Amino acid sequence: MLDKFHDECGVVGVFGNSEAANLVYLGLYSLQHRGQESAGIVSSRRGKLHLEVGMGKVADIFHDDRLQRLEGHMALGHNRYSTAGDSALHNAQPCLINYSEGSLALAHNGNLVNAVSIRKELVSTGSIFQSTNDSEVIVHLMAQAKDDSFVDRAATALKQVKGAFSLLLMTEDEIIAARDPQGFRPLCLGKLDSSYIVASESCVFDLIEGEFIREIEPGELLLINKDGLTSYFPFQKTQTKQCVFEHIYFSRPDSFLFNQSVYESRKATGRALAQEHPADVDLIVPVPDSGVISALGFAEESGIPYEMGLIRNHYVGRTFIEPQSQIRDFGVKVKLNAVKPVIKGKRVAIIDDSIVRGTTSRKIVKMIREAGAKEIHLRISSPPILYSCFYGIDTPTRNELIASNQDLEGIRKFLEADSVQYISIEKLLSVFSDPKEKFCTACFDGNYPVKIEDKESDIEQLNLFMSGQ
Ligand code: SF4
Repeated sequence: MLDKFHDECGVVGVFGNSEAANLVYLGLYSLQHRGQESAGIVSSRRGKLHLEVGMGKVADIFHDDRLQRLEGHMALGHNRYSTAGDSALHNAQPCLINYSEGSLALAHNGNLVNAVSIRKELVSTGSIFQSTNDSEVIVHLMAQAKDDSFVDRAATALKQVKGAFSLLLMTEDEIIAARDPQGFRPLCLGKLDSSYIVASESCVFDLIEGEFIREIEPGELLLINKDGLTSYFPFQKTQTKQCVFEHIYFSRPDSFLFNQSVYESRKATGRALAQEHPADVDLIVPVPDSGVISALGFAEESGIPYEMGLIRNHYVGRTFIEPQSQIRDFGVKVKLNAVKPVIKGKRVAIIDDSIVRGTTSRKIVKMIREAGAKEIHLRISSPPILYSCFYGIDTPTRNELIASNQDLEGIRKFLEADSVQYISIEKLLSVFSDPKEKFCTACFDGNYPVKIEDKESDIEQLNLFMSGQ
């Protein structure tokens, strides 16, 4: 794996379409970058929910026979990368439970920071959990809620959880889309003829030829049923804190979220980086794919030629067989290769979106050096990552984050580059149309918007889920 933060999950729901499951399938396909460990779809047919899940990528799991079993006019789906809970089929989503009021399915993107304490309480009162993921506490809280309506039960349950959730809930005849009050993760509403679609990112609507309507608001609970759409705002109002990393790296560049095109913000970040930290070089080279768009902005702003001096192999799966005679840095080499005629004899600025542990960046610098570069200057379109994320992104512990342990010169030395510069938080936030207060920057500055009061127990929480207890 390249040394990156890992995407969280992607969700898609469709209401009121005879091809609901097929559309969800296509939506999940568009959101494959948000999770490749498992995928699932649940549909509602003749008053019953039917679930199909599997490990792996969407196209490998869902063949014709599986999709045919998913009949009905409503469906929701989920792509998973395990941020909490071990990587196993029992943790694949959507979660589906049957309880006194009927059946309930859940697809969740995000991470709850108080799931362990809620889970312990629920277990002590007799709840039996099927998975080790944090999301399952929500369906148990809903099952225990005494309210009469689906919306009220959802509101009662969601008011008890803290952290990040952009999620979809489905009964036999209704869907709820909900976003936590801070709005950490994106969630968008679209339309296809008379049917409604909710998806993590707007790129889903483009593939299925739907129309993007709007984003689900932070703190909104949107009910979709035969009467149309009804919005509720049951949570206490708080400052919006959208994850800035969605724009830096996680979301697809052809998506529109947090009131802005991801492509445009990424390119503007490259321009801003060039203003803040220019480089006296002959060539701008992106680390593909994550650095491509910001490098375009950097090149445009600086007037320096842009070249694809690194080529990515897009056909590398999660596992590959390494030859017995060891090849140095095989894991990176199999994914990236330098184009020697482009690099040789040049002073090069390498543009990437982030440095996490520094291990991949160091190998890339070495690769470019071996290709004959005269000088190598790294320019990074995110600020130094100093803290872990607790809101649905898989991040290493602080000990492993290079910027948490080394100053700029230490990082430069470790990477063996001629210079290293990161964009500042202020400059990064200046590219967005939304005011800076509306963004979470906790992994850069440690200002966690939802306080992690007892860090030890939160780490314990993550470990508990990871080990599958
Ligand atoms: S801590 Fe970083 S990755 Fe996590 S939600 Fe905040 S900005 Fe996003």
